[in-house]
Amino acid sequence: MKTALSIAGSDSSGGAGIQADLKTFQALGVFGMSAVTAVTVQNTRKVYDVQEMTPEIVRGQIRCLFDDIDIHAVKIGMVSSIPLIRAVAEALGTVSPPPVVLDPVMISKSGYRLLKADAQAALVTLLFPLAEVVTPNIYEAEALVGTSIRTVGEMETAAAGILDLGAKKVVVKGGHLGEAGATDVVYDGREFRRLESRWIETKNTHGTGCTFSSAVAAHLALGFGFFEAVTRAKTYVTGAIAHALAIGKGHGPTHHFH
Ligand code: PLP
Repeated sequence: MKTALSIAGSDSSGGAGIQADLKTFQALGVFGMSAVTAVTVQNTRKVYDVQEMTPEIVRGQIRCLFDDIDIHAVKIGMVSSIPLIRAVAEALGTVSPPPVVLDPVMISKSGYRLLKADAQAALVTLLFPLAEVVTPNIYEAEALVGTSIRTVGEMETAAAGILDLGAKKVVVKGGHLGEAGATDVVYDGREFRRLESRWIETKNTHGTGCTFSSAVAAHLALGFGFFEAVTRAKTYVTGAIAHALAIGKGHGPTHHFH
């Protein structure tokens, strides 16, 4: 059986973070493992608090797994501070890792900062070089390239800018553009592709970014090539949105950043 490791934060409500990743791995037939970077206190309404793990504990989880188990893909999600980013880079830097999918998690849909303001540069310089693909949403892509994005054409410009920052491949996810946002832009440095799906009107989108990136990792672990892996991940996350469980009293994304 193929295996995948999620290096990410815990979402106590079970919809995002480590919990979403492990459910995705399981659903796609990949044995899932986790290195927890932080524990969030969170329900469907919002993130109330965060406790980061120590760098030693994060490094230790990753190293002991690589010492012992064949790992076929890695997904990196929430890594909130410079010391934790360094710990992940150090741990992966010594093991020649399998394909790494980096979801540059910055802010929750409820508006909580999951990446400290001073840590974005470290994420780029230390983790981008380790990643096979980086999967920002519109907001994260805007923060990375420093321009606003309103169209699919601007998503492509941003994708090229993200490769200039050191990423090998990128998927810019369109969801935050609203109804025009069912298109994701994929760029591998040579060719742009657009992943299209129908727009699904729903408030149940919490954790979709985590689910998409872990689905890419699962498909890479299973041996699919890059474009096939992202296409299948898009299909998987679209199905997950269409069939999402409506739990809790939260009101869904607030789009606070536009
Ligand atoms: N909590 C954790 C631990 C996460 O990793 C993420 C996103 O990546 C979130 C919460 C936020 O999820 P969303 O923006 O879908 O609400």
